Amino acid sequence: MKTNSILIELTNRCNLNCLYCFEKKRDLYRDIGQNFHQSREQTLKVLSENQEITNVTLSGGEPLLYENLEKIIEWFSEKQITLLTNGIKRIENKEVIRDLDIVVSLDGDYDVMSRHRGISESQFLRINKTIEWYIKYAKSVSVNTVVTPYNINKKEYYPYEKL
Ligand code: SF4
Repeated sequence: MKTNSILIELTNRCNLNCLYCFEKKRDLYRDIGQNFHQSREQTLKVLSENQEITNVTLSGGEPLLYENLEKIIEWFSEKQITLLTNGIKRIENKEVIRDLDIVVSLDGDYDVMSRHRGISESQFLRINKTIEWYIKYAKSVSVNTVVTPYNINKKEYYPYEKL
């Protein structure tokens, strides 16, 4: 079957401030007003009804900061949905995540993550808990790693092999 994919950046807001983030350079959606927000959702609704589109990737910024995320997932429920997230927040509703392919950003151990993403130890633990949550309840989980001089020679970090 032919695959037609789209990537939707739901927001450029984020709850992290990573060293290498390109989103920080842009301010497309922030404070842009209710009219823009409404017309963007109308566009998404039309896209969700397009039978030609088979695969949808929801990204950001951090898509979990988009207040209507679950509504958007519902609209695209006939498609294969991939969600890209930093794992600081998680979707609690198991019904919503059941059919999702989830990609969580994880660059390595706490030392690497604090250098790359400026996170605290509790945030690092939360990201790992989030990954465990999605391993249990999502359709699939992958880890997305940004390689830099800080982690290129480090041993890989896969705590989930034990699960
Ligand atoms: S998690 Fe992603 S969007 Fe957020 S600051 Fe980091 S690189 Fe940017």
